[in-house]
Amino acid sequence: MDIIVRQGDSLWHYSQLFKIDMQLINDSNRAVQPNALSIGQKIRIPGFVAQEYQIRQGDTLWKIAQNRNLPLETLQLVNPNINPTNIKVGQTIKVPLRITWRLVNGGQRYDYQTLITDISRLESVYPFLQIPSIGKTVLGKNIPEMVIGTGGKRVHYNGSFHANEWITTPIIMTFINDYLLSLTNHNAIRGLSTSRFYQQSTLSFVPMVNPDGVDLVLHGPPSSAPWNTKVIDYNKGSTDFSGWKANIRGVDLNDQFPARWELEKARNPDQPGPRDYGGEKPLSEPEAIAMADLTKRRDFSRVLAFHTQGEVMYWGFENQEPPESETIVTEFSRVSGYEPVKTIESYAGYKDWFIQDWRRPGFTIEIGKGINPLPLSQFDEIYQKTLGIFLAGLYM
Ligand SMILES: [Zn+2]
Repeated sequence: MDIIVRQGDSLWHYSQLFKIDMQLINDSNRAVQPNALSIGQKIRIPGFVAQEYQIRQGDTLWKIAQNRNLPLETLQLVNPNINPTNIKVGQTIKVPLRITWRLVNGGQRYDYQTLITDISRLESVYPFLQIPSIGKTVLGKNIPEMVIGTGGKRVHYNGSFHANEWITTPIIMTFINDYLLSLTNHNAIRGLSTSRFYQQSTLSFVPMVNPDGVDLVLHGPPSSAPWNTKVIDYNKGSTDFSGWKANIRGVDLNDQFPARWELEKARNPDQPGPRDYGGEKPLSEPEAIAMADLTKRRDFSRVLAFHTQGEVMYWGFENQEPPESETIVTEFSRVSGYEPVKTIESYAGYKDWFIQDWRRPGFTIEIGKGINPLPLSQFDEIYQKTLGIFLAGLYM
């Protein structure tokens, strides 16, 4: 919601009026000099939208504000041009509306367009969110990252490395939405106050690493050549893509990282296909390159890669993980009931590479149980179990 600066205003004053943390207001107005506001300048207030309201018989601004639990002054701020002592029946004014509900609807077939729509809805209500693109897919889609906060503990979460595991994306988006609601409404999540996390952490999310693959699973082949026919060849002539994990070129993005890639290559298919083909060389695919570049740039303290399924969490790689990995995964297990597994015979995954090159905690979290793609009927149960893991990723 936008308001217009008046004589004597300050961001601190807005913070008090709207009960929104000062830091959230600062971070929603990065281009603004907090100590040099100018009259008439536009300021964004996170967590609110301005709703139109038509004046009825007997209304006063004071009554309207009172009914909405807002100071009268907030009405004047969003309606700089009205005369408060002379409002007329039928006149339309703006009323600040505090957002206390989710904008993301996770329980749906969550394709790339749904992601983009939800991101822009969140961005407009929570302008302190930063949404850089980390690169483009084979089909030219931007891969968005969502960044919350500026603290020193840099925690990264990603989903949908594997196309038919797309339910991981709405799970992550729902967590982001709940986190934003908690920050702007001062609601604790599971007893944890999140404003402390906002101060201490930079949260990085790439909710959909493989948008081309997700759309292939949900909508079938793309309309244009050459991938419209190639993916069907790679899929052995079938138009059922429910078993597809790879990107649009038939490369498994989670077999693309330079962490004993040759070993993974040797035990896997040597042709493009729905799953497990690691490519001609490590980091040949734009989606994997984008993730590797992001990870090098950001210096993450820890990473959590969300996959389906099995309710297990992989936390080791070649004994290169630090001791704290085990402490953290033990807490993940306590809050979710998921089982920690140190290693399996598997290489070249994103978390493997992170552990190997940074010697910091990296996890692959296999959420839910059943056959991929997991049915949306599991959404709420999966969310309840993984919510604890998201939060433990922050406080551990
Ligand atoms: Zn997976």
